[in-house]
Amino acid sequence: MLGHVNPQGSLLDPTQLFGHLVTKNSFYEKLARCGHELVTDDDFAQMYSKSRGRPSIPPSVMVRGLLLAAKDQTSDREAARRSRVDLDWKAALGLDADHPGIGATTFSLMRARFVLHEADRKLLAKTVEKAVERGLFPRQVLALVDSSPVLGAGAVQDTYDLLRGAIKKVVQAAREDNLSTKLLRKLGRYTRDTKPAIDWADPEVRKKELARMVEAARLLLDAVEGRPEAKEAAELLGAIVAQDVEIDPDTGEPRIKEGTAKDRIVSNTDPEMRHGRKSSSRRYDGHKAHVLEEESTEIILGVDVGAGNGKDGDHAAPLIEQAQEAGVAVDEVVGDMVYGDGDTREAVEQTGAKMIAKVRPAFNSGWYPKTDFLVDPELLSATCPAGEVTTDAHPARDHKGRRTFMLVFDTEACASCPVRSECVKGAGPRTITLNFHEARLAQAREDQERPSIKAKLRRRPVIERKIDHLQDLGARKARYRGRRKTKLQVLLAAVVANLGRLDALGAFETMEVALAA
Ligand code: SF4
Repeated sequence: MLGHVNPQGSLLDPTQLFGHLVTKNSFYEKLARCGHELVTDDDFAQMYSKSRGRPSIPPSVMVRGLLLAAKDQTSDREAARRSRVDLDWKAALGLDADHPGIGATTFSLMRARFVLHEADRKLLAKTVEKAVERGLFPRQVLALVDSSPVLGAGAVQDTYDLLRGAIKKVVQAAREDNLSTKLLRKLGRYTRDTKPAIDWADPEVRKKELARMVEAARLLLDAVEGRPEAKEAAELLGAIVAQDVEIDPDTGEPRIKEGTAKDRIVSNTDPEMRHGRKSSSRRYDGHKAHVLEEESTEIILGVDVGAGNGKDGDHAAPLIEQAQEAGVAVDEVVGDMVYGDGDTREAVEQTGAKMIAKVRPAFNSGWYPKTDFLVDPELLSATCPAGEVTTDAHPARDHKGRRTFMLVFDTEACASCPVRSECVKGAGPRTITLNFHEARLAQAREDQERPSIKAKLRRRPVIERKIDHLQDLGARKARYRGRRKTKLQVLLAAVVANLGRLDALGAFETMEVALAA
């Protein structure tokens, strides 16, 4: 059941006994001084039983513990040790000097509780609410949005290891005694800890092993079909076979697919990891953190963690909604070009905010791009660089199946056009396909030339500093497997960052250092 901090305090309070030893102006000192303004035990009461069990370690203490572990990037075992022997930690936790410390498993249980009750998001929201309460945000809120790679905690595996690991998971989930001896004998070479002892350097031998593995996977999937306890593991195995293996049409034998499947699973130990890209040439495996920050205070308003190969723009509107839930009405959001597409702009507009991001320049492999034409999406007309006008609009569908139009120029005009070689690739007339958001994008292209918008776009790099700070707080690499726990890690790092900003901006009432000098 819920435990509470003793409001009377204690004679063994380390801030009274050893306050002069606590590192001045450190995160520990700030947490000791201001932590009670941010979190109380009752804020997290819903995570505990009201009447059953022994009183827990007060949640406000555990929250501080999680923040300290996030700040110092410690393992649970090290966090437990520091909570027992480290005066900085004891002061920040508000534990008596003779407190035996918090057990390592208690940290892990608290993380599970946090994830279950979405308490990590609530904790970040409390830092934002504190800034709102203290009137730190300007009347017109300009937010900045960006994303950053988070390397996954799972081991990246090749097809053979992925298949072997997935087979093992299905056998474990279905339990061996529920599978036939004949099948288990076939699977034996894949359920051991070591790889099958074959000549892995020989392509023919590898090919035969792949066929054997795929056959074993097929038999196993047939055997566990309809068994709920093995459903999840069986789906993972099926997905790995489907993404990495195809049948060679010449031999009828399985072979590894060429290229990389979209949304490819890269790890058995963290199946949510994906191939991501830092840039066109730099790849990584893991997840992607998305961050929204208020520009003038540099306070983080929202955090999310998505797939490593996910689209950044999809997270802009949900992040604004996070800020709104904490009481911040975002007016404008500045992002880089990846947030400049029509779908992202529309989603952001639906939250009541405006997306400020450059529209990706139009390319047409050397021929006149669409932006060289004067397009009127309302009248369904276009004027080409040679002055020809077309209103010949044909219905079309975009990549999402939405209705749009293709404008076709006059065949004869294009055939006799003096600049045809710079405009049309094939034999027919020039065509222009309208974007579903053509008018919205045209407006954005016009806006981005205005000095006021250019000035706002120049403020975007401020968020890169924040991303660097989060990475310094451990958000560069996931400590835990799975996207949700990685999100917890990034959210805790964001809370640590926000605490520093709130303190620097004078948001806490307890400005005087309460620690004994
Ligand atoms: S080829 Fe056709 S569309 Fe292109 S500039 Fe010439 S007339 Fe215009």
